[in-house]
Amino acid sequence: MRGSPTTPQGHDFPSVMAPRLGSVRELDESVATCRACPRLVAWREEAARVKRKAFRDWDYWARPVPGFGPTDAPLAIIGLAPAAHGGNRTGRIFTGDPSGDVLYAALYDLGLASQPESTHRGDGMKLYGVRITMPVHCAPPANRPTTTERDTCRPWLARELELLRPTLGAIVVLGGFAWQALLPVLSTTGWQVPRPRPPFGHGAHAQLTDARSERVLHLLGGYHPSQRNVSTRTLTPAMLRDVLHRGADIADVAVRRPPG
Ligand code: SF4
Repeated sequence: MRGSPTTPQGHDFPSVMAPRLGSVRELDESVATCRACPRLVAWREEAARVKRKAFRDWDYWARPVPGFGPTDAPLAIIGLAPAAHGGNRTGRIFTGDPSGDVLYAALYDLGLASQPESTHRGDGMKLYGVRITMPVHCAPPANRPTTTERDTCRPWLARELELLRPTLGAIVVLGGFAWQALLPVLSTTGWQVPRPRPPFGHGAHAQLTDARSERVLHLLGGYHPSQRNVSTRTLTPAMLRDVLHRGADIADVAVRRPPG
């Protein structure tokens, strides 16, 4: 499924390719070949050429970053997009930037990650019962994808959530952008989103029903562990652990008692 990184693609590549994929593993491979957004392709490759001084010895990933974690996870965490010198460098979401340091430390404290730090794709990190993914798979300039880029990338997330559906019980949504991006995706994949749409907030909790069964999917909102939110203590490590703990409890994923 993996193609040449230089293969020309139209903006419809995700909408044509994603529905054909039969497993999360296939999806992870296919998304990493995507070049549907010209601005983001240029940005991710520019970041890899210019690099940051601290990372000048790195061979950047410089491709779309796939989701990470078990393909039968009962709990999903959805962020925004990779960082130019974080996930776009290391090839793993939330890895190599301060946001990821906070997130993986919280997951480790709860027993949902095998290591407190995620540094690169070969570091042995494992997640337990949790999969992290995102509505935009390429690093955007200033961490702000356009609505067109968000919509172009949507089929990847829609297919991933369909493939995770048999086990998925809860999603922790980090940040308002992800919340806004996710609701229409869930709506088109058979989940009944309450009307009016539930607003985002830290601690927000919405329940979506499956039109075809009695199943319920729980959405929990949490502030994004951005450097700004963490440095201003808008989001503390305890707040992040708390929302992840709630999500894990709802999804019936075993956690251990966090420190302190
Ligand atoms: S943001 Fe999504 S749709 Fe756009 S190039 Fe990256 S993977 Fe493809």
